[in-house]
Amino acid sequence: MNNLSRRNFLGMVGAAGGSSAIYKTSLAMGLLADTGPKAMLDLQQPGSEKKSVAILGAGIAGLTIAYELERAGYDCTIIEASHRIGGRNLTIRHGDIIDEMGQPQVCNFDDDPDLYFNAGPARLPGHHKRVLHYCKAFNIPLQIKANVNRAAYIHETDHFGGKPIRVAEYIADARGFMSELLSKAVDKNAFDQPLSEEDQVRMREFAKIYGDLDENGHYKGTSRAGYASGGFLEHGELKQPIEFSALLDSNFWAGGLSRTENFDWGEPLMEAVGGMDNIVKGFVRNIKSPITVNAQVQSIQLGNDGVDVYYNHKGERKKLHADFCFNSIPSHLMKGIPNNFSKDYNDGLVALGPGNFFKLGLQMKERFWEREGIYGGITSTNQRIRQIWYPSHGIQHQKGVVLGAYTFWGQSNFFERLTPQERIRYAGECGDKIHKGYSDYIEAGVSVPWGRMNHMMGCGSRMAPENEEKYFELIRQPEGKHYMVGDQVSFHSSWQEGAFASAEYALLDMDKRVRAASAVEGKG
Ligand SMILES: Cc1cc2nc3c(=O)[nH]c(=O)nc-3n(C[C@H](O)[C@H](O)[C@H](O)COP(=O)(O)OP(=O)(O)OC[C@H]3O[C@@H](n4cnc5c(N)ncnc54)[C@H](O)[C@@H]3O)c2cc1C
Repeated sequence: MNNLSRRNFLGMVGAAGGSSAIYKTSLAMGLLADTGPKAMLDLQQPGSEKKSVAILGAGIAGLTIAYELERAGYDCTIIEASHRIGGRNLTIRHGDIIDEMGQPQVCNFDDDPDLYFNAGPARLPGHHKRVLHYCKAFNIPLQIKANVNRAAYIHETDHFGGKPIRVAEYIADARGFMSELLSKAVDKNAFDQPLSEEDQVRMREFAKIYGDLDENGHYKGTSRAGYASGGFLEHGELKQPIEFSALLDSNFWAGGLSRTENFDWGEPLMEAVGGMDNIVKGFVRNIKSPITVNAQVQSIQLGNDGVDVYYNHKGERKKLHADFCFNSIPSHLMKGIPNNFSKDYNDGLVALGPGNFFKLGLQMKERFWEREGIYGGITSTNQRIRQIWYPSHGIQHQKGVVLGAYTFWGQSNFFERLTPQERIRYAGECGDKIHKGYSDYIEAGVSVPWGRMNHMMGCGSRMAPENEEKYFELIRQPEGKHYMVGDQVSFHSSWQEGAFASAEYALLDMDKRVRAASAVEGKG
């Protein structure tokens, strides 16, 4: 024993505890620098034989699985069809290629670290704990992202004379009128169960504060809407409230008004400093397993001892055999990938229907919106562009990139049919109706129609409620040693947290199986 070298010792540890044990023992002996941050899951490959894992797709789900399994001692190989890593987590900057089917674009924004837009994820809420865990673990700086900005506009071409009005004004007046109605109802005690006198007093007070009513329970306007004039050196003059009937007749209350009420959109939100793809870069920095891009999976065959994956790389058909396979390929694309899954499982994959979000970024030569008092946040319009987002970063710089359209379903179909140049022109004309001279500020633009992006052809997949009971659990469970993963198999599709959660779910399931098999082997 005296002559036991470190190498021999590690060999003995390996024989007893597998590669994960070697890794951990090496760390303890100071032979290996623990460069990576802590894994989120406590996975550990038991047994002496190193297990192999094929990971299909290098989006957030695939990268999470690679990171966690690599640290647990598995041998991971990642196969990605696209030319880039990250999947839907895509930040567009100068020179980037937008891989749209049949009409690729090259981003012609200036070469400036501030001039980018997030074509996929753009917002992180504080309760998405998994994504925040990895951001912290990988030292990815985050900043606050303004989502709802009361200084931004509500614009409806057929209401308010087609003029944009400030979100603050709309919200203040809507609350004022609703509160006045409530106050009147309390006066008449017009409820099916009469209110006690004490409750009436409390309710009147509530309405008064909620809507900023006067002593008589009337709404006559409020400084919450911003002043018509003055406010600093002279007394502020209240704005004339919008006619209640005009407000009711408009449509913003039906959608945009409740935006912050959605828990995932509640302020404050966050974003990665410098672009959301810094999350992807964080994973790439911390993963050693090979990631092969431009490698398209073409067939998946389940066997008794694992999974065979056939893929095309640079025109050559290759085979990868692995003990386990984690598959994040968009389920609607699985229809075109031959496999020997059960019919029900395949039916379940098809039952996940893709959406088609569309985003368009415009480089503006001046940050004209800041002259209108708008710093970050969103303007809503009933035009096809639906929204204009103002960047929360680069405040008071010369130039900025606005999100000039963010659409879904039918509105996305409209943009999908246009050429990239036509989309920019159209979005510019819509912007002109909100901001004077908007299209004159446009220097460059690119668009990302997720329904037409190669290797995606859709996003935000969801199952119709009638299919959910039949198929959701089925496709979330493994088929042999193959797991379907990604936000598509979570109840939080269109959010990275759904992708992380699904990865975690599949990993824990596999871990349980591996441990159980190892326990049986150990007894044998
Ligand atoms: C417009 C938009 C806005 C969004 N906003 C937000 C937001 O604000 N906040 C947030 O947290 N999330 C947001 N999301 C959701 C977020 O982008 C996703 O939840 C997450 O990126 C999904 O990761 P994934 O790994 O599940 O799938 P993907 O990223 O789709 O990864 C799948 C991978 O499979 C690859 N692939 C496809 N076919 C093959 C094949 N045959 N062989 C090999 N590889 C293949 C693809 O190229 C891709 O890289 C948004 C998404 C979109 C599109």
